[in-house]
Amino acid sequence: MIEQPIATKKRTREIQEKYQAQTKKSFGQNFIVEPGVVDKIAKAACGNEGASVIEIGPGIGALTQYLCEYAPEVVAYEIDPRFPPILEKEIDSDHLKVILQDFLETDVDKVLEDFEKQNKKVRFAGNLPYYITTPILFKLFEATHPVDAITVMMQKEVADRFAARPSSKEYNALSVITQYRTDIKKIMDVNRNVFWPSPNVGSSVLQFTFKNDHPIPVEQEKEFFELVKACFTQRRKTIYNNLQEYMKDKEAASAILEKAGIPLNTRAQQLELSDFIRLFEVMKDED
Ligand code: SAM
Repeated sequence: MIEQPIATKKRTREIQEKYQAQTKKSFGQNFIVEPGVVDKIAKAACGNEGASVIEIGPGIGALTQYLCEYAPEVVAYEIDPRFPPILEKEIDSDHLKVILQDFLETDVDKVLEDFEKQNKKVRFAGNLPYYITTPILFKLFEATHPVDAITVMMQKEVADRFAARPSSKEYNALSVITQYRTDIKKIMDVNRNVFWPSPNVGSSVLQFTFKNDHPIPVEQEKEFFELVKACFTQRRKTIYNNLQEYMKDKEAASAILEKAGIPLNTRAQQLELSDFIRLFEVMKDED
């Protein structure tokens, strides 16, 4: 039971004044100031299996404090040098280790390998800085070591793209690649008033759990992701147009589409994940 949550407007202001640590827009700093929200994210993020949690962007600790309640070990990566000393003073928990580092510069595979050697499961959590949500998630999706789950807050608009279905306007290469690697569950939508300062848009918390099966051999997945991106290069063009530019060969592009049973006038946004997998398999057979 947390007696003095950091995630309230009053406590956040007190901490900011005490340490002269005002928020910086350049680092995407919007702190959660509603304890019920951090509690729900932390419970979902930690799961029930005693996994270690890696937090991305702890800030002054709104979510960190709750993660330390529910997880045996929390490792938090923060880019802003003002925050690690604050976290160490304000969060009284021996579960917490704070690392001052740009998460995008972190060697995730090395970090995960170290946890694996100790037989520890790892889950990621964070209220992500909006300006780098996609690169952070892709870094995690491309990790070659196992991750149990990723539970993160992001702009609602970006969340909608991850979970988008074919033929919707949000559906893009990101949706296909994410859905290939993970199952996505929405934990909740979050009103913008829950943040300090309050952003212009709403947010959602999504949970990604990794699928165990690899319909495409692991060593070919990078190539598969390139193909998916190429098919969406120009949304208004047909898949045939995008594919022939990618392959630099009109005849081969039309032959492959025909073999995969995809009409030449289809647009990438109409295709299911299974269509992209079939297209890739046909392409490899032709190699
Ligand atoms: N977790 C806190 C909360 O929910 O109140 C803060 C969330 S705030 C949206 C994002 C945090 O990520 C900030 O503390 C910011 O300094 C940090 N951050 C921004 N870019 C980062 C990066 N590349 N690596 C690690 N942390 C980063």
